[in-house]
Amino acid sequence: MKVTSGTKIVCRSGHACGLLQVDVNDGQPILPQHVKVIGATSVENGYACDRCHAPVITCAAGAWRVHTEQGWVG
Ligand SMILES: [Zn+2]
Repeated sequence: MKVTSGTKIVCRSGHACGLLQVDVNDGQPILPQHVKVIGATSVENGYACDRCHAPVITCAAGAWRVHTEQGWVG
C-alpha cells in the first residue's frame, strides 16, 4: 500500500503520534528517517502512544510499520 508524505500516524484511539515525511511506494520499506514522531515514546520494539500506550510504530528487520487512519502500513 502506497502512503504519501503527510500521512498522519495515529493510535487506534485516534491520538496523533507522528507524520510520514516522504511518499513510500508499495514494496518499499518505511525507514526511521521517513517518520517524524510526535507524541509517542520509544519502547522495546517500536513506539507507543504517549496518551494511551497503544503501539503506533513497530520496528522489525530494519523496516518500520506505522499505524495510520487506514490501519497498519509498511
Ligand atoms: Zn493513543
